[in-house]
Amino acid sequence: MADSITVSETTRTGPSQFDLDRCVHCGLCLNACPTYRELGLEMDSPRGRIYQMVQVANGAPITASYQEHIGLCLACRGCESACPSGVPYGRMVEDARCQIEAQAERGRFATWLRRFFFRRLLVSPRALTAAGTLLYLYERVGLKALMRVLGSFRLAGTLGDIAQLAPSADPPFFFSQVGKTFPAEGPRRYRVAFLAGCIANISFARLNEATVRVLQKNGCEVAIPAGQGCCGALHLHSGLREDARKLARRNIDALLEGGFDAIITNAAGCGSTLKEYGELLADDPAYSAKAHAFAGHMRDVTEFLAGIELNREMTPVKATVTYQDSCHLAHGQRIRSAPRKLLAAIPGLEFREMRGADICCGSAGIYNIVENQMSMQILATKMEQVNATGAEIVATANPGCLLQLEAGVRLHGTGQKVTHVVELLDRAYGG
Ligand code: SF4
Ligand code: SF4
Repeated sequence: MADSITVSETTRTGPSQFDLDRCVHCGLCLNACPTYRELGLEMDSPRGRIYQMVQVANGAPITASYQEHIGLCLACRGCESACPSGVPYGRMVEDARCQIEAQAERGRFATWLRRFFFRRLLVSPRALTAAGTLLYLYERVGLKALMRVLGSFRLAGTLGDIAQLAPSADPPFFFSQVGKTFPAEGPRRYRVAFLAGCIANISFARLNEATVRVLQKNGCEVAIPAGQGCCGALHLHSGLREDARKLARRNIDALLEGGFDAIITNAAGCGSTLKEYGELLADDPAYSAKAHAFAGHMRDVTEFLAGIELNREMTPVKATVTYQDSCHLAHGQRIRSAPRKLLAAIPGLEFREMRGADICCGSAGIYNIVENQMSMQILATKMEQVNATGAEIVATANPGCLLQLEAGVRLHGTGQKVTHVVELLDRAYGG
C-alpha cells in the first residue's frame, strides 16, 4: 500500500432534499440521542440538527454555530434506530460534514495536523509502525502513566483526559501477519479473509491474533491479504469522502478477487463503513459493481460466528459479564443478538444486561479527542449503568469502545475488565 494519499477536497453539496424531507419532526428520536440527553437542547438533538441542515439547504450560511452543533453529533446513529420514518441520519450528517469541510477555514497548524493524521498516518503501515514505536517508548519511560495519574486528579486538563483515552502500543505489531494465511483447525469449513484495520495493527495486535485463533477453531482458513489498509471510516465521518473512496478502492482490489466465503472485521465502526462501500462508490462505473459485491461479503466477526455452527468445545469462563453495544454494530449494522448469543454460548459465564446498553459510550471514532468534554460527560453517565450491573467484565465489539470503556473504568469504575466478545471466546477455547 502507498504511504500517503492525495485527493482533492470534496465538493459535495450537503444532505439531499429527499433525505431532509423524510423527517416529519415528530421528536421520537430525541431520547435516543446522547447529546440531547446530556444537554436537553433542541439544537443538539437529531431533529434540531436536521432543522439546521434544512436552513442551510435553503440558503442560510454555514455559521460557526452550525459547525458546532453538527460537530457535537457523535454520528452514533442511535436516532436512526428510533426513527419511525426511516430518516438516514448517518448519511445526512456525513453529507453535512462534507459540505462544512469544503468551506472550512483552518489555521496552518490545524490544516497540517489534519492532513498528517488522515493522509499520512492512518494510510501508511510504515508511519503507523513508527508512531507505535514512539508510543511504546513514551509508555516505557512512564510518561503515559504520569499523565493518566494527573488526569485522574484533574491536574492536566484536557491533555490528562486525552492520555486516559490514547491507545497503547501492543508490540509485536500485527503488520507482520499481513500477507499470511492461517490454516483451519480440523476440517476446513470456510475460507475467510481478515481485514486487520489500521491503528488496530499497533494497538490491538493481541485482539487481532485472538480473532484469527477463534476463526481457526471454527474451521476457517484465515487469509490476511497484502495490500489491505484503513477502511476510510474515520475519513468519512470527518467529511473527507474522496479520501474514503480512494481507500475503499484499495481494499476492494486487495480482497475481492480472493474468492473468500466472507471478509471479516472485528471492528464494528469499520464494518459499518465497509458494508456501505456500495453506496460510497455507487457513481464510480469502474468500481460500483465490485463495491456492492465486496459489501455483500463483509461480516462482523460476531455476526459470522453466530451464523455458523459454533464449535462448542470450550472451557468455562466463570465471570459476570455485561455488554455495551457498539453503535455501528447495533445502529449501523442492526446487529444486536449475535454478540449476546456468543456470550450465552460460553459455559460458566453469567450475563447481566445493562440499562441503555445501545446508547453511545462517547467514543465515536476520534470524537473523544476532538469533543473531549462532551465525550467524558457521556462516558460518566455510561459508567453509572455499567457499575449498576455489578458485572466484573464489560464486553463490547469495537476497539474504539474498548479504549473509551477502559478510560471509564479508570475514572469511574469498580475495577472491571474491558474486553472484546471475541477475546472471551478465545479464552474459552484456551487461547
Ligand atoms: S429524525 Fe425521525 S424520529 Fe427524529 S424527528 Fe425526524 S422523523 Fe421524527
Ligand atoms: S447520530 Fe447520535 S449524537 Fe448524532 S443526532 Fe443521532 S443520536 Fe444524536
